[in-house]
Amino acid sequence: VQPASIERLAAAFARLPGIGPRTAQRLTYHVLTRPEDEVRTLAQALIEVKELIGECRICFNLAEGPECVICRDPRRDPALLCVVEGPADVLPIERTHEYRGRYHVLGGALSPVDGIGPQDLHLEELYRRVVAGDPDLPGDPGGTGSRITEVVVATNPTTAGEATALQIGADLGRLAPQVTVTRLASGLPVGADLEHADEVTLGRAFAGRRAL
Ligand SMILES: [Zn+2]
Repeated sequence: VQPASIERLAAAFARLPGIGPRTAQRLTYHVLTRPEDEVRTLAQALIEVKELIGECRICFNLAEGPECVICRDPRRDPALLCVVEGPADVLPIERTHEYRGRYHVLGGALSPVDGIGPQDLHLEELYRRVVAGDPDLPGDPGGTGSRITEVVVATNPTTAGEATALQIGADLGRLAPQVTVTRLASGLPVGADLEHADEVTLGRAFAGRRAL
């Protein structure tokens, strides 16, 4: 009933999260009404993120180039490291303005039922950072050893997130007993994702973090 190119765009929109077939159709009509240069800018931006964005070689956050903007920022507190499941968890924490350290992105959470074990996450890299530091980063010049004094485990308040937090607490207790490992205070809705928590709740959970 529609030209093939319209069908193709609507189908592409419908594959986006939270977009149903009706919204996909509406977005398609919207694109048709916009000037060509505006549509070209959108298309270009879509391609550019895929071409330019990769993983930070230090923290596995999203990065344009070898290191992310947070790792490269000399104003970040080198004593604090916050562990999150995915790159989408970094922005909500930044928005709370409660945290001034660096991050470590695990790439998921431990979940034996889904076949996700320790080797599937960036845990080894985390332990190496905590033990040896980040020699190439501002604040730790020349690799003088780790300056990390606290690791804040901000995995999601889900079964997998809790299991991951416990594992990290146990491993770091063995590998780096001088480092305090903390967990966000309760108050975050159980089973919810950090990504969807509001700033005030997340900020409070951060301020009220406790030793694991
Ligand atoms: Zn980074």
